[in-house]
Amino acid sequence: MAQTFDMVVIGSGPGGYVCAIRGAQLGLKVAVIEREHLGGICLNWGCIPTKALLRSAEVFHLMHRAKEFGLSADKIGYDLPAVVQRSRGVAKQLAGGVGHLLKKNKVTVIMGDATLTAPGKISVKTDKGTEEVTGKAIVVATGARARELPGLEPDGKLVWNYKHALNPPHMPKKLLVIGSGAIGIEFASFFNTLGAETTVVEVMDRVLPVEDAEISALAKKQFVKQGMKIMEKAAVKKLDRAGNKVTAHIEIGGKTETHEFDTVISAVGIVGNVENLGLEKLGVKIDRTHVVTDEYCGTGVPGLYAIGDVAGAPWLAHKASHEGVMVAELIAGQKPHPIKPNSIPGCTYCNPQVASVGLTEEKAKAAGYEVKVGRFPFIGNGKAIALGEPEGLVKTVFDAKTGELLGAHMVGAEVTELIQGYVVGRTLETTEAELMETVFPHPTLSEMMHESVLSAYGRAIHF
Ligand SMILES: Cc1cc2nc3c(=O)[nH]c(=O)nc-3n(C[C@H](O)[C@H](O)[C@H](O)COP(=O)(O)OP(=O)(O)OC[C@H]3O[C@@H](n4cnc5c(N)ncnc54)[C@H](O)[C@@H]3O)c2cc1C
Repeated sequence: MAQTFDMVVIGSGPGGYVCAIRGAQLGLKVAVIEREHLGGICLNWGCIPTKALLRSAEVFHLMHRAKEFGLSADKIGYDLPAVVQRSRGVAKQLAGGVGHLLKKNKVTVIMGDATLTAPGKISVKTDKGTEEVTGKAIVVATGARARELPGLEPDGKLVWNYKHALNPPHMPKKLLVIGSGAIGIEFASFFNTLGAETTVVEVMDRVLPVEDAEISALAKKQFVKQGMKIMEKAAVKKLDRAGNKVTAHIEIGGKTETHEFDTVISAVGIVGNVENLGLEKLGVKIDRTHVVTDEYCGTGVPGLYAIGDVAGAPWLAHKASHEGVMVAELIAGQKPHPIKPNSIPGCTYCNPQVASVGLTEEKAKAAGYEVKVGRFPFIGNGKAIALGEPEGLVKTVFDAKTGELLGAHMVGAEVTELIQGYVVGRTLETTEAELMETVFPHPTLSEMMHESVLSAYGRAIHF
């Protein structure tokens, strides 16, 4: 007999498990079906293990700067397997925590591969056979995987995807990273800091192409200073693999150059896990590799929702979780607000860090806004100098007519922890006047957020 639930969630990533817990909190009988690992990509192969690796790189980098701080550190080195082991341990700890949270909230976990067979009906292939499950509402939270381009397919030895890069078979000496979005640039930053001679190829006209152009340019300056080679408006057309070498054919400025590497990381985007779920049969629309949804994550099929990476950009864990909460509340009969795309922050944990929310200056102008722009450099901030982190910028973009904070863009130390201040501001629909009235603690990096706002109105004190 089929097990029956109020809500069945397919996938236990940050979209799925958060949705399940919120549903259970609201009194729904909930099941989560997961085919591989609780916690999804984020906890096992994404956000968390990458941050653990990057922390090792950061400590290593700081150890090299010991003298600057009046300290000494001899024989600075690293043990890559130990660095990776720590990262895997952190991922395991957190994925275990998800199992505990689901149990505590009395969510039924079914380990197996789910396919929708009819509206409200799911067939799950488990180790023990096939189970039938029914749900009054079903939430597809099946996530995404690395995109593969023809000729650049990862092989796990010479050419890696993010999973290989998180558990690398060797330390690259000469590394090519294809793609300078968040995933590509974080790996470039990690391996470059550990000493790999790193080249980044980006098809767009700048690295971190979704960020504000000024922020991208400042980040690039730092990457180059750290020894990275950046090739923009460039495309890797072919990889010839022979022995321990890869020859990359790179199209740049109308010519094709060839360069040799011992390792390539392909970070050319992701594709949604939409296959073999029975979605098309139910009439769900798929646009390329993502489920088409409305602002409430509805698929158009009554009782069937899609959240997180499988439902399209931005491919971020916090977007997935926020959608999960909203959909659970909707299913439980509440009236949640739809997520505002321009209030979803984006963070990249390379060195220097990059963080942003809302419209870039360029996009705000293109949208017809007359803008006021504030800028405050790290060099003008006492805490940044004390930390030994004088490079960076906090940029704010306001609607000149209403004072609405349209966007905020930062590059520099710890900005991924700072951006949330502006995100709260946007949620509260704040204007420049309230931000200027706000008291910021001293000495903190957050004072630059205040100064940037002041600067937009010609009132910055320290610059
Ligand atoms: C290297 C890397 C670094 C990243 N860093 C960050 C970061 O710093 N910050 C950030 O916000 N985002 C980051 N991301 C993106 C983030 O991981 C994703 O946005 C997030 O995991 C999406 O959550 P999700 O719940 O939609 O899907 P996922 O986390 O992908 O989870 C989907 C789950 O569904 C399961 N599943 C799929 N199909 C089925 C099926 N048919 N039956 C049963 N189960 C199924 C999968 O096994 C998986 O566990 C990173 C991604 C990568 C790859």
